[in-house]
Amino acid sequence: MGSLTRRQIAFVVGVVAALLLVYATIHYLVQLRHAFYPETYLQRIAVVLVAFCIPVFTTWLRFKWVGVNILTLTFLIPLILFVVSITKLPVFLWIFLVYGTLMAILSQMEQHFEGQIGMIGIEEEKYQDETNNLEMTFKAKGEGISTFFEKYSTYYNLRKLAEELTVSLAWGELAQKAVDRAMDFIPRGDYSKITLARGEEKTLPVVARRRMRPVGNWVVKQGDLFDFWCIKNRKRLIVMDTQEDFRFVLSETEKKENVRSLIVAPLFHEGRVTGTLAIHATRPNVFSHDDLRLLDAIATLASSAISNAMLYEKTEELAIKDALTGLYVRRYFYERLKEEHRRTLMNNKKMSLLMIDLDHFKECNDRFGHQGGDLMLIQLAEILTKSLKDAVLARYGGEEFAILLPETSKADAVRIAEQTRKAVEKSLFYIRREQVQMTLSVGVASVPEDTLDTEMLVQKADKALYQAKREGRNRVCVSAS
Ligand code: GH3
Ligand code: MG
Ligand code: MG
Repeated sequence: MGSLTRRQIAFVVGVVAALLLVYATIHYLVQLRHAFYPETYLQRIAVVLVAFCIPVFTTWLRFKWVGVNILTLTFLIPLILFVVSITKLPVFLWIFLVYGTLMAILSQMEQHFEGQIGMIGIEEEKYQDETNNLEMTFKAKGEGISTFFEKYSTYYNLRKLAEELTVSLAWGELAQKAVDRAMDFIPRGDYSKITLARGEEKTLPVVARRRMRPVGNWVVKQGDLFDFWCIKNRKRLIVMDTQEDFRFVLSETEKKENVRSLIVAPLFHEGRVTGTLAIHATRPNVFSHDDLRLLDAIATLASSAISNAMLYEKTEELAIKDALTGLYVRRYFYERLKEEHRRTLMNNKKMSLLMIDLDHFKECNDRFGHQGGDLMLIQLAEILTKSLKDAVLARYGGEEFAILLPETSKADAVRIAEQTRKAVEKSLFYIRREQVQMTLSVGVASVPEDTLDTEMLVQKADKALYQAKREGRNRVCVSAS
C-alpha cells in the first residue's frame, strides 16, 4: 500500500514536470520565431531536447515502456504538431532523430540490465543452492556429531560397567550391579530384574531387582512368561503392549503386575541360556529397539561376569568341600579349627570337638558295594547337617567325621554327642530300596577342659573315639582330662 502511494506521487510529479517542460518548450519556440542567429537557435533546440530526455529517462526508469509511450503520446505528438504548425521548420526531424536514438539507447540499456539482472538472478540462485547445501551438510554433520557422542557415551558407560563387573567375585553382587546399571541406562522403565536358572531345578528365581517407582503389587520372585519365552527361543524380546501382543496370554498374577511394555535379553554361559535380564514398564510403548540392543549388551557383560563369579564360587567350594558329602575337607577343617581356637582363647570361651567313626562300615561296603556305602555316607552327612546347625562339620577321613562345636563346654558337647548318636541309631538308611540301620562311636575333647592346644585336642578326641570302639561301639566316650 505504501509503495503504491509513493509510485502514484512519482507519477503525478512526472506529469507536472512534463507539463512544465511542454510549457517551457512552447515558450522557447515562440521566441524562436523571431531569432535570426543560428547559434542561439541551435542552443535552444539542444536545451529543449536534453530537457525532454530527462523526463523520458526517468519515466522509463520508473514505469518502463508503458510510461514512456504514454508520455510520448500525451505530449510529444501534440508538441511536434504544434512546432510544425508555427515554425514551418524541420525541427520535428531533429526531435524524431533524438527520440529514436534515445529509444534505441534505452532499449539497449534495458537489454543489458535485463541480462545483468538475469545473471544476478542465476548467481543468486546458485548462492541460495550453495547456502541450502551448506545448511544441509551442517545439519547432517551436527546430527552425525550428536549420534557420535551418543554412541561414544554408550560405549564409555558400557566400558565402565565392564570394569565395575570385574571388581567383585560375588555373583549376587554382580547381578545387582547389572540390574542397577540397566536402570541407569534405560531409565524409562519402572523396574528391572535378573532371573537365573540354577542347577537342575525347573524354577527361574529372581536373584536381583531394582524398582524405580512404586508399581502395583510388585512382588516378583520367579521369572514370568516373557523370561521363559526368551530362554526357550534363545533371543531377546521386545513387547510394545502386552495387551495387544497376540503371542502372550497373561495369567491373573501377571495381569495384577500390570506390565504393559517390556524388554528382555537372555544371559548366556557356554552356549546355554542361564537366565534373563529384563526391564518392565507399566505404560505401553515405552521402549525402543535401541533400548533392547543396549540391554542385550549389558546382559552380555553381566552374563560372563556372573558366570565367572559362579565358577569361582564353585572352585572355591570344590577346594574346601568334600564332593561326596558336601562337608568340609580335612585341610579346611584344620584352618577353621585354628581360627575358632584363636577366638576361643582370646575371648576366654570354650569349644569342643567330636570325632566320629561309623561302626562296622566295612560290612556295609561288603553287603552293598562301595557305591552303597557312599549312599550311606551321603545320608549320614544330611542327618548331621540338619541336626548340628552351628557346628563346623568335616569329613575327616573315609567314614570318619570331625565336628567342631564353637562356644560349647565339655558337658554340652557330651549332650550333643549323645543326641547325635541316638539320632543316627534311630534313623533308617535307604540303600537300593533296602532299609539299613547304622550306629556310630564318638570321642569328645574340649578346650579348655582337656587342653589348650589344637593338636592335643584332636589327639584326645581321637583317643576317646578309640576308647568308645574298644568299649563296644555305638557310644560316646569323653577324653580323660
Ligand atoms: P569299626 O570302625 O567299627 O572298627 O569297623 P569298620 O568296618 O568301620 O572299620 P574301619 O573304620 O577301619 O574301616 C573303614 C572302612 O571304610 C574301610 C573302607 O573300605 C571304608 N571306606 C573308607 N572310605 C570310604 C568311602 O569313601 N566310601 C565307601 N563306600 N567306603 C569307604
Ligand atoms: Mg574308620
Ligand atoms: Mg569304622
